[in-house]
Amino acid sequence: MVPGLVPGLLLATGQVLPVSSVHRLARTSTLVRIVMDADGQVLDMGRKVRLATPAQRRAVFARYATCWVDGCPLPATLCQIDHADNWSSGGLTDLKLLGPACQFHNRDRYRHPDRYTRRKVGKDRWAFTYHRLAGVRRL
Ligand SMILES: [Zn+2]
Repeated sequence: MVPGLVPGLLLATGQVLPVSSVHRLARTSTLVRIVMDADGQVLDMGRKVRLATPAQRRAVFARYATCWVDGCPLPATLCQIDHADNWSSGGLTDLKLLGPACQFHNRDRYRHPDRYTRRKVGKDRWAFTYHRLAGVRRL
């Protein structure tokens, strides 16, 4: 075979594809970037899926002990997996942007993103601080 003109190899099955099939796939496929851990588990899903994979959930639980909103004591394992950047606003389902949020904070942060500020904690975690609205008086 001539280098550069070899057919494609479908890694999932080991099937060798003719060049015409490689060209057709290149024209009709969507490129997806996949990041895996050392065990081959997918950690970054980009925009392809909204919900975290089981491997992402395990990785989030290893990184966080509780809900990622300051002062919330709910254990991470009882939390929902939340997107640091809201999924509906273009957020990615990538491990570096996922964390645990209790049901209340997940929903409240979605409805009132202006009430929360995000900061980086260490190299690979985030935390959110809730800010009570200025000028709102409690009865
Ligand atoms: Zn919470």
